[in-house]
Amino acid sequence: MQKKELLYEGKAKKLFATEDENLLISEFKDDLTAFNGEKKSSEAGKGALNNKISTELFKLLEAKGIKTHFVKMLDDNHMLHKRTKVIQIEVIVRNIATGSLTRNLGIKDGTVLPFTLVEFDYKNDALGDPKLNDQHALILGLVEYQDELDKLRRVARQINDILKPYFAAKGLNLVDFKLEFGKDKDGNIILIDEISPDNCRFWDIASGEKMDKDRFRQGLGGLKVAYEEVLNRILGNK
Ligand code: 5GP
Repeated sequence: MQKKELLYEGKAKKLFATEDENLLISEFKDDLTAFNGEKKSSEAGKGALNNKISTELFKLLEAKGIKTHFVKMLDDNHMLHKRTKVIQIEVIVRNIATGSLTRNLGIKDGTVLPFTLVEFDYKNDALGDPKLNDQHALILGLVEYQDELDKLRRVARQINDILKPYFAAKGLNLVDFKLEFGKDKDGNIILIDEISPDNCRFWDIASGEKMDKDRFRQGLGGLKVAYEEVLNRILGNK
């Protein structure tokens, strides 16, 4: 499958058409951005690590019955996937309070939540990805029906129920993560984008060390080593 015209360039990926109108190619970039694009950098090899990590996690989720856009990894930086109409909602799943939950509501950093929290953010850089409730999402026309929002929450919880114990067995706490969904050509809602340390928080259970993009956001250094460690644990090399 060949890359054809560039359809879109995002902060972490480029999206290309292919000869098949139902399939697209994502190129995973080495670029890193945070704070709505205000902080920028690049880390050689980051894109390939995220492509490999996402590939393994999409395969795991598919094997457990979650429908995703994943078709196959083409090479280090390229993934072939289905074309979807993107739902402009970021579905955030949280097991432990940190980040914006701590900032916005004052819940102490590191607090284990009494139950898994699922939130919606409006995928809109110009507005700074604000929080959405169900009525906002319907008024904005981000989905047509309430049952679509219910489905996003249900599938997000199913994904957490698969990934949380999976990572715990590899010595990593899955603190929180962001999911995106789209509608395929038949109108089915499926998981899209990527699942990587760029959009998940992983804390090492033994040391408490951060193994994700917070190393960049918080200027901690060692981002690539951490991402490699996450991949190695997924592959069972450690
Ligand atoms: P927070 O709302 O605390 O900043 O982020 C919660 C979780 O969702 C974190 O795992 C974070 O990586 C992910 N997340 C939220 N918004 C974005 C975003 O716009 N881009 C990326 N890559 N991840 C996000």
